[in-house]
Amino acid sequence: MISLKDPSLFTQQAYVGGEWVDAPDGKTAEVTNPATGEVLGTVPVLGRDEVAHAIDVAEKAQKLWKKRTAKERAGILMKWYDLMMENQDDLAALMTAEQGKPLTEAKGEIAYGSSFLQWFAEEAKRVYGDVIPTFAEGRRVMVLKEPIGVCAAITPWNFPTAMITRKAAPALAVGCAMVVKPAMETPYSALAMAILAERAGLPKGLLSIVTGDAPVIGAEMTENAKVRKLTFTGSTAIGRLLMRQCSDTVKKVSLELGGNAPFIVCEDADIDAAVEGAIASKYRNAGQTCVCANRLFVHDAIYDEFAEKYAAKVAKMTVGNGADEGVVIGPLITEKAVEKVESQIADAVAKGGRILTGGKRHEKGGSFFQPTVIADATREMTVFREETFGPMAPLIRFKTDDEVLEMANDSEFGLASYFYSRDINRIWKLAEGLESGIVGVNTGIISTEVAPFGGVKQSGVGREGSKYGVEDYLEVKYVCMGGV
Ligand code: ADP
Repeated sequence: MISLKDPSLFTQQAYVGGEWVDAPDGKTAEVTNPATGEVLGTVPVLGRDEVAHAIDVAEKAQKLWKKRTAKERAGILMKWYDLMMENQDDLAALMTAEQGKPLTEAKGEIAYGSSFLQWFAEEAKRVYGDVIPTFAEGRRVMVLKEPIGVCAAITPWNFPTAMITRKAAPALAVGCAMVVKPAMETPYSALAMAILAERAGLPKGLLSIVTGDAPVIGAEMTENAKVRKLTFTGSTAIGRLLMRQCSDTVKKVSLELGGNAPFIVCEDADIDAAVEGAIASKYRNAGQTCVCANRLFVHDAIYDEFAEKYAAKVAKMTVGNGADEGVVIGPLITEKAVEKVESQIADAVAKGGRILTGGKRHEKGGSFFQPTVIADATREMTVFREETFGPMAPLIRFKTDDEVLEMANDSEFGLASYFYSRDINRIWKLAEGLESGIVGVNTGIISTEVAPFGGVKQSGVGREGSKYGVEDYLEVKYVCMGGV
């Protein structure tokens, strides 16, 4: 069991249209702790009818919510933010139990996730329209910004809190309603958030958390014409599917999909800083983030030095239950995730890759995996094309800026990229040349609520966070007034 200071933050019911409910047929699904295999509890497996009901209630609630002033809406979001931070320890404990990440990372995610509530509460007060110089005498031209309406969100297990607030906060702040389907691996973080939203005074029906089978809930969310926007974070394969499903009702879509981040270390880089940055980027959440470095390109002149320092540090990382002191790498989310890392390593080794450290399942068993570094990686390896989503770093050698840019951009993905250099000309060349929505220069950590997060190519559509993240939940209405 999860021990919490406030045990009422743990609920095994879903939140539908402002009511806490079980499935009408009593069906439930288990939620397990990936570190121990312990069953933490169950959540309801809802059907399409319950999702449709949540959407109906959301539609009614949204009509009233959008009429409230931005300041009033902001007040509730700020209260929600305060409650999240007051309960940071409990929310983090819940997250570590169901997701596996180290407690310090979970606390960090609660702070990061909550920051979107604060940011968008502030930002929505500044959603300005326009008055455009007229095109004809007697006419006036105005632009109003209006909330899109009812939004649906489908979110992943790797950031159980932040991936929801990054969507729900801007939606609610500008006057939309939102029905969320959290990942079934991590529903308790989502439900705890909803408990706090209710305590903060969020009117009933504006936020629902529906649990159940993904394709069933996804079908209702995408086919129901009352839903005007779908926002999704997850794999590119499911993103493509959902985008197709949304086409029949011509919904707006925001998609945060997979990545294949290059992490480039140039010969003029501060090598120690690059080692630190590459560790932070690669091994956060045991390598299970869409902005994790996936391919490390290291210049020929410093390759051996970098490889040695990097592998030595990685070898010292403590693997274990995220709830235990000192652990920096938790378990992978499932056995399937472990098999994917294993198969990428086997493929790399078969094609000439050299394991510098790790390479195997961890002696702790379960879904624990050794943090791994593979030297002599090449373009022919599966890891060059596919996101690993686990603690394995391949090191690829390069000799020129043009060569590394070409290799880095040789991917269908374009979410994050990173490079280390101290040469101002090279910095501009790489920052502009990399095909990605996000570029980290001399840093491996880029996520913040103040900056736009999102990808190009098949990494997605739209931006989350920052002033740009507000736009994704607004429609532009042109009002033309005649007879003036
Ligand atoms: P991952 O493999 O990392 O879990 P997914 O894209 O499968 O990534 O999952 C992200 C989210 O998408 C989860 O909430 C999952 O339940 C949901 N999902 C998966 N398949 C579907 C589907 N067919 N329709 C709607 N949602 C889906």
